[in-house]
Amino acid sequence: MSMPDGPLSCTDCDYRGFLVFRRITLAYHFADGTTVNGHREMRWCSDCRNPRDVEGAQPEIESLQTELDALNATFSTTGYRTKRWVSRIFGQRACALQTRANELRGQIRLAQTRGTECRCLTCSSVHTLPFNFDDDGVCRGFQHECGGRLLLGPPDMDAPRFNYGRETIHLDETGKRIP
Ligand SMILES: [Zn+2]
Ligand SMILES: [Zn+2]
Repeated sequence: MSMPDGPLSCTDCDYRGFLVFRRITLAYHFADGTTVNGHREMRWCSDCRNPRDVEGAQPEIESLQTELDALNATFSTTGYRTKRWVSRIFGQRACALQTRANELRGQIRLAQTRGTECRCLTCSSVHTLPFNFDDDGVCRGFQHECGGRLLLGPPDMDAPRFNYGRETIHLDETGKRIP
């Protein structure tokens, strides 16, 4: 889910913030040398007391496992083994399937390791909250610390646009940044 840039304010206090959408990829490095890509989300960090880029929520392991089981079943058929060597095109397809299977194994491992934690990428706090803005830009996910509601304003079209390149942030398997 992408989120627009926009000014953030509070209904009950003078808090002012800003949501900035940056293109970020996460690379998790496991202790055994395996690297798995992850995604980030924008959430509220209760410790930074501001919107932050945080670890994205992990996908459902069950659906990943179902897809992996289906791929494994394909690999184990005799026809697959034979055709793999007689057809170059099929071989390429098989290669893509193997890549997907490896990806799935990585995603499952990551989801099992990270569980439901979504660490702030700035301060490493696990106290982060999803925004869930409604159509009027009112945050329904949580209340501001003052008890008010955060409001996402429309993007200011006259504001200078920053064209950030895609950035990769490297994390260890506990979701902490690797310096
Ligand atoms: Zn407030
Ligand atoms: Zn933080």
